[in-house]
Formats: sequence, structure tokens, C-alpha cells
Amino acid sequence: MIIFGFRGVRMTRDTGTFECLDCQRSTEYRLRALRNFFTLYFIPIIPLTWQSGNEEVQCLACRAKYPAGILDGSWPVEHPDSLQDSFYFMIRRFALVPMLVAGGIVQESDKEWLCGLCWAGYGGQVDLEQLDAEIEYVQTHGVDQSMEDLAIVKDTLDETQKIEMVTAAWRMGIVDGRLEPHEWKVLAKLGESLGMSAESIDNAITEAELNYPSGH
Ligand SMILES: [Zn+2]
Repeated sequence: MIIFGFRGVRMTRDTGTFECLDCQRSTEYRLRALRNFFTLYFIPIIPLTWQSGNEEVQCLACRAKYPAGILDGSWPVEHPDSLQDSFYFMIRRFALVPMLVAGGIVQESDKEWLCGLCWAGYGGQVDLEQLDAEIEYVQTHGVDQSMEDLAIVKDTLDETQKIEMVTAAWRMGIVDGRLEPHEWKVLAKLGESLGMSAESIDNAITEAELNYPSGH
């Protein structure tokens, strides 16, 4: 019996130079992506199409990995001044905005709530043009796919920051009252992308409910 199938293999799709955020200078990178292969007895034989998404850029000097958007400037939308700024950017981009977009049509009042949350605890005043760009990014790529970038950068976050991110998403979600099923899905996807266990996600939410009874 001949066993054949298909699978994705991560391989270098392109190389070049870019501005590495870690090295803070121009370095060489390789762009790695998943390519579909036709397999025979589980061995990839014939290269087929490249999969969209799931691309990562690796700095060949420091080995840091970034979402592919770093090459065309779509990630991060704004170059952060400090690690703390970059954490607040991640809170907006992976917690607040996906929760906002998951709710369907984005209302001005929802955007105001998001800005209020940022003002109160996640980085201060939000540039509205920048926020619109982030919303558009998540709308275009879809909530799930836009969170895949998080898997690449999650190791730069400690446990407290991961909990803070889940808390922020939860606070954004309860803007219109209790969390709805599609909002729970965003929370679950966020926790999963952060590599958190179901138990630590639950704990973070229980804690948030105690600390922010009305989201504020
Ligand atoms: Zn580097």
C-alpha cells in the first residue's frame, strides 16, 4: 500500500535586511513560512503552495523572531519607544482590539470605552488614527489569525503580563454587560495564544471580576 498525504513544512521563504528591534540596527533576516508538501510515506516530496499567515521573520544576528508585518511596517503599527510601550501596544493589538472587533460593527462608544481603559491603565492617551489602523488590521486578518502573531512574541511576556492581558480583554468585553459566547471565544483564543492553561485563564477572570465589578 502506498501512503501519501499533505503537510506543511516550515522553511525559509525569503532573506534580506531589516531593522531589528532587539539589535536596534540593520541586520540580516530570514522569512520563514509554512509550505505545503505532497508526502510519500510521510516524507515531503513535492513542494506545493505557501500557506498564508504563520510567517515569521527571524533576525540572524540575535535570533529574535517577529511577525512578518515588521517588514512592511504593519507590525508594530507604531514603533514603541520602550518595552512598557510595546507591552501596551500588545494589550491593544491582541486583547482590546480583537475583543472590540469580535462584537461586530465597531461603535464609536465602544472605541471610547477602549480609549478610557487605555487612559486608566494601559498606556495613557490613544492616537485615534493609530487605533483605527489597528482595528482595520484585525478586521482584515480576522480575530483568530491576527492573534497568531502573539504566539511568536509571547515568550517576551511574564506570567503577570499575560494575566494583565486577559484581564484587559475581559474588561473590554463587558462594556455591553456580560460576556457573550463569541467574546468568551476571544478570551479563550487569547489565553491559548499566550500559552496559558485553562485554569490560569479562569483564575485571571475570577480575579478581574473581583477587582473590576463593572469593568472600571
Ligand atoms: Zn536582532
